[in-house]
Amino acid sequence: MKRRLLALAASAAVIVPAAAIAQARYLNPRDVAEAQRQHPELVQEFGGAESGTRGAYVQQVGARVAAQTGVVNSGQAFRFTTLNSAVENAFAVPGGYIYITRQLMALLDDESELAFVLGHEAGHVAGNHAQARKSAATRNSVLGVLGAILGSVVGNSGLGSMIGQSAMRYSQMATLSFSREQEYQADSLGTRYITRAGYDPLGGTRVLAALTRSSALETRLQGHENRSTPEWASTHPLSTNRLQRALVEAQRSGPPGQGVRNRDQFLNVLDGMYVDDDPAQGVIEGRVFSHPDLLLQFAVPPTYRMQNSASAVTISGSAGQAQFSGGRYQGPLEQYIMRVVQGLTGGRQQVAMAPPRQTMINGIPAMYSVGRANTSSGSVDVSVMAYRWSPDTVYHFVMLTRGGQGIGPFTQMVDSLRRLSGQEAAAIRPKVIDVVTVRAGDTVQSLSQRMAYRDYRLERFVALNGIAPNERLVPGSKVKLVIYGARRSG
Ligand SMILES: [Zn+2]
Repeated sequence: MKRRLLALAASAAVIVPAAAIAQARYLNPRDVAEAQRQHPELVQEFGGAESGTRGAYVQQVGARVAAQTGVVNSGQAFRFTTLNSAVENAFAVPGGYIYITRQLMALLDDESELAFVLGHEAGHVAGNHAQARKSAATRNSVLGVLGAILGSVVGNSGLGSMIGQSAMRYSQMATLSFSREQEYQADSLGTRYITRAGYDPLGGTRVLAALTRSSALETRLQGHENRSTPEWASTHPLSTNRLQRALVEAQRSGPPGQGVRNRDQFLNVLDGMYVDDDPAQGVIEGRVFSHPDLLLQFAVPPTYRMQNSASAVTISGSAGQAQFSGGRYQGPLEQYIMRVVQGLTGGRQQVAMAPPRQTMINGIPAMYSVGRANTSSGSVDVSVMAYRWSPDTVYHFVMLTRGGQGIGPFTQMVDSLRRLSGQEAAAIRPKVIDVVTVRAGDTVQSLSQRMAYRDYRLERFVALNGIAPNERLVPGSKVKLVIYGARRSG
């Protein structure tokens, strides 16, 4: 998270007959204007864009694929951005802006696979699939990330707005589902585009296989990790059927193994790229969230999951939901707490808050208050713990639990917030992709030991590279490792 809150209006979508897909068409100017307008905020919320060689490379591959979409002046109409995000995702907005995260890129193995992901998303744009996405958005904002408990508190328009704010809206945008048919169609279009652009038609099949491996790994790690990330796989349900279809489409599109893969160039671009969290936005390691720049750390209850965004860390578990956020504030803490509650309810509903009480947590002056809101499905406790971090900075947890529980389930969490020393902060390093050339004697076991993780090194290594645990590595071939790297400046 960063010291920033922002808001964004939902994007407009326009119905165009499906028949328009194959014909030359223009993007709707209103969609384009909307995409342009929201682009900087969206990039900010996802941790910034990859610039330099990497950003240019993705734009160039995207443009090559977009030229096959039938969209007029595709070179200008489409824009491809690589997001500095630990979430494995790709998505498009109707105005032709297409996004891929570095985390998803790390999973890919060659340029034809990257081309397929970009082509799939361009297919959603060219196929005008956004109308379905819009109705899904309406559903999602009702039953959003924070679930029904929150939605019912004040008629679901208010509470969501504060906890959700930007984080929820963007994660919605990135996780909304198209219909299954639209996904199949985007797969088909993606494969057709890359084949016509000269790439190996099997790029898409390999992407789907890589995502299948990644989501199988995710399942294995469940219960071992407290990170919650909405992934491409969750909005693009993987199934044997989908893989089959992709394979058939690839075979129909062109002879496999004849197109461009550009593996070496792709891996060159990947080398050194951040994987997982960017320390500049805070790092989730097990139950602990640490921010080396804000010099703070806290731990969530066991089995609770965290989702980090530029503006806040959202925490969810069996007994409730919470959010950590904050920023510059000089007024009294009582006032701050009231503002958090007002923000939560959009100022429309009164939540009866108990008089705030002072406390001291790990040497930090703090103040908390618990309030009660009555909802159609029973009462909900709204608690705020605010910390006077410095004369002009306040951080807080806002927590929602069942009526009568108050801060209870989150007591250890609110007590755990502490300052990091400069030394502790300096020890927090990013993970990066390291492309290595296999040498004689290297094995899957020996190389996987170099993975910068405390557990499941072998599993992570084989999932990342799409190889079998007992596979014999060929000297001279290249594989991807994830190692600890240095923070980039700026
Ligand atoms: Zn899709």
